[in-house]
Amino acid sequence: MHKRTLDALGGAPLEGLRALVRVDFNVPLEGSEVTDDTRIRAVLPTLRWLRGHGARIILLSHLGRPKGKKDPAFTLRPVVAVLETHLGVPVTFLDDPRSEDALKTSRRLKRGEVAMVENTRFWPGEEANDAAFAKSLAALGDLYINDAFGSAHRAHASTEGVARHLRPAVAGFLMAKELEYLGGALATPARPFLAVIGGAKISGKIDVLEALLPRVDGILVGGAMACTFFLAMGLEVGTSLVEPDRVDLARALLTRGADKLVLPDGATIAQTLETGAPARDVKRDAIEPGWAMYDIDAVTQEHFAARIREAKTVVWNGPMGVFEKPPFDKGTIAVARAMADATQNGATTIVGGGDSAAAVVAAGVEDRVSHVSTGGGATLEFLEGKDLPGVTVLDDA
Ligand code: ADP
Ligand code: MG
Repeated sequence: MHKRTLDALGGAPLEGLRALVRVDFNVPLEGSEVTDDTRIRAVLPTLRWLRGHGARIILLSHLGRPKGKKDPAFTLRPVVAVLETHLGVPVTFLDDPRSEDALKTSRRLKRGEVAMVENTRFWPGEEANDAAFAKSLAALGDLYINDAFGSAHRAHASTEGVARHLRPAVAGFLMAKELEYLGGALATPARPFLAVIGGAKISGKIDVLEALLPRVDGILVGGAMACTFFLAMGLEVGTSLVEPDRVDLARALLTRGADKLVLPDGATIAQTLETGAPARDVKRDAIEPGWAMYDIDAVTQEHFAARIREAKTVVWNGPMGVFEKPPFDKGTIAVARAMADATQNGATTIVGGGDSAAAVVAAGVEDRVSHVSTGGGATLEFLEGKDLPGVTVLDDA
């Protein structure tokens, strides 16, 4: 899936044009304070490049789930000040993208100036991908740039509909990086190609497991997900988090993926998640009634780390245990460190998923893996091989 990117436009044709840029400013807020500006900083290269080439910028983003109504709790206004600090220019706020006023303001912007539209989800036309709403968004720009990978799996007016009305429609730098790494891993992975899949539930990740199975050389399975596989193998899982209605599916996957699926050798178990509750490592066939698996055991940590270190492409989604609660973070940290080692050995390493990304930061290796994907659902859908509407609609390279 090769898409035209911003730098392929060249500089000159942008001079004075209104660049309508879809970004992901779905940032965490406390009152009207942005508590983490990672997502804002992530699109600065695109914005700076556009300004440097004389474009005028109009930004689109959603924030939270206001469900098609104006809700002050979800206004994008708090982002203005943060953006102004980073860009060093004033940012004009557009209250209503459908208004004559917004249109006039977009036309009056000078080269390098920036305006930001209020939360697109304040209007029902956004999530409905309403043609009229998409058209009014499109009227604010002369070309379209999508730099919001995390929203690209949704066909909304600001991610899909709008791009039908504007040409060129291209990928921003952040989007391009996502497509390069995730697309590269699927299309031309250096081998051995390993997937590491964990997290709470098997149900949300079955499609990923199915899609990756024929492509990879191995899938290391951790997290609570492993326990549903244990059930399918006829093992005692105690009070571990399992999905009994997915046992048949797990059994089918075990049969089909026998040569590739790698389950944990053992588990770190405890009776509760309470701090200080006794925890110990057992073989996977020795999980006791009344005890739950909260992490992969030390033997598995070593085993998984060794496999990861000798891989040339690794895609990781989902923590190996309840990493929020030490001592059950050990498996996840071991995988994170092995990812960093593999990267140093020349492997391409990709981390996807909100909790996994947080775990990589907690382990202090976020700068030592090749790519931390910014998309949650979008990353999974991409790995499942699905088309992302917000990507499909962009110009082909
Ligand atoms: P991501 O956001 O990276 O896609 P998920 O949301 O799928 O990851 O899974 C993360 C959650 O899985 C974490 O909250 C973690 O505590 C939980 N988890 C992992 N292993 C277990 C386990 N053995 N038992 C219960 N919860 C688990
Ligand atoms: Mg999660």
